[in-house]
Amino acid sequence: MSGKRKVLVVGGGAAGMMAAIAAADAGSLVVLYEKNEKLGKKLFLTGKGRCNVTNASDVEMLLSNVTKNAKFLYSAFYSYDSFMLMEQLENEGLPLKTERGNRVFPVSDKSSDVIKTLENMLSRRGVQIFLNTPVKELLICRDSCQGVLLETGQREMADAVILATGGVSYPSTGSTGDGYGFAKGAGLSVEKPFPSLVPFVTKEDYIPKMQGLSLKNVVLSLYRGKKRLYEEQGELLFTHFGVSGPLVLTASTVLSGSDVAGITGRIDLKPALDEKTLDDRILRDFGEAKNALFKNSLGKLLPAKMIPVVVRLSEISQDKRVNEVTKDERLRLLKVLKEFPFTVEGLRGFAEAIITRGGVSVKEINPGTMEAKKVGNLFFAGEVIDLDAKTGGFNLQIAWSTGYLAGRSAAECPKNAFCRKETT
Ligand SMILES: Cc1cc2nc3c(=O)[nH]c(=O)nc-3n(C[C@H](O)[C@H](O)[C@H](O)COP(=O)(O)OP(=O)(O)OC[C@H]3O[C@@H](n4cnc5c(N)ncnc54)[C@H](O)[C@@H]3O)c2cc1C
Repeated sequence: MSGKRKVLVVGGGAAGMMAAIAAADAGSLVVLYEKNEKLGKKLFLTGKGRCNVTNASDVEMLLSNVTKNAKFLYSAFYSYDSFMLMEQLENEGLPLKTERGNRVFPVSDKSSDVIKTLENMLSRRGVQIFLNTPVKELLICRDSCQGVLLETGQREMADAVILATGGVSYPSTGSTGDGYGFAKGAGLSVEKPFPSLVPFVTKEDYIPKMQGLSLKNVVLSLYRGKKRLYEEQGELLFTHFGVSGPLVLTASTVLSGSDVAGITGRIDLKPALDEKTLDDRILRDFGEAKNALFKNSLGKLLPAKMIPVVVRLSEISQDKRVNEVTKDERLRLLKVLKEFPFTVEGLRGFAEAIITRGGVSVKEINPGTMEAKKVGNLFFAGEVIDLDAKTGGFNLQIAWSTGYLAGRSAAECPKNAFCRKETT
């Protein structure tokens, strides 16, 4: 025996790899189990294959972009923030660049380079990696986790176990909620999972007609009845089922897990122009082509795919000459441009959700160590925990920070309160 503590990590995603690296750096013998044939399957898909690895922001800014249970992350973010991650990755030979909104990507624009870097880090630290090796159960004895049972029937004993099995979104990447079952089996509560950062299904037949059209710098507002729930500017995409794009994904965090009945959306297509300025602009366009048909007069104002839809919603006859359009009709047109309407019928499912809202309750976990409060030597990291954030690299930072803290804590477990209590 080496006398080193043995730490088992379940799950080879961002959180699990970081946990394994941190535990090995802290002197533990680390074994990582991944049920897929390779590490980081979800990481490979991130940032459309470019991997928005983090957000170059201070901890307060990171916390303000966490949409659920932000306070829980205080210690984790302060233990390992985005600048520490960036420095570590760059020192390991992965050059990074920072883009709009402080989003950080590898210079190569390849998520595979992030995975390669992590794999090299794991290998240099002697982490033993078992691929195609699903963990079936936790071995728990007298409120202490003692190891895992593999699908093969093999029992692996250890000083600590870190669960980094992810959520249930994009299940094709291996994130199938196994950690929720393990946590429940250990007597811990799990908040019901819901898809989040996910597109909307909309009711109106005119939305799919604009499929593929992307609008930049529009303002999206969401309402429940008259109450405004959300308003932000950004990029939106029309699809065959509804609306998507960064603006919609972020907006979905205010609806995830709640009833969408009565939720309507409005898009301000011209947020830079107030109604008076926009009306002047329309009058000017009309004045330049007095005899043009209304349907042919909006080309300077709108993308071609939107024109028939806006004409229909304005209820102005498309074949009317612009010099015959009345003030009331123009006001209706203005309303459509400033408050383009849609109704939310639902959110798309886990297969398309960037993240899972819900998971192992933060009440069950010590935020200073990531150890389960009721079960000693059992640690959690990443999306398996009931935490989620906006787009922009914040979700991966949650995985890195909680992974780091869980890894360090698992390696130093005797210093933790729970273990001290057990060993005295
Ligand atoms: C399409 C897409 C794009 C995204 N883009 C970004 C982005 O650019 N920036 C960002 O910050 N976030 C992004 N995210 C979110 C981010 O990828 C996740 O929040 C993050 O990867 C979660 O990491 P994790 O390690 O906790 O979980 P996961 O990455 O889900 O890893 C869990 C791992 O555990 C393994 N596992 C599960 N059960 C078992 C078991 N029983 N035994 C052994 N292994 C098991 C799984 O196979 C999996 O490999 C994106 C998500 C998606 C789906």
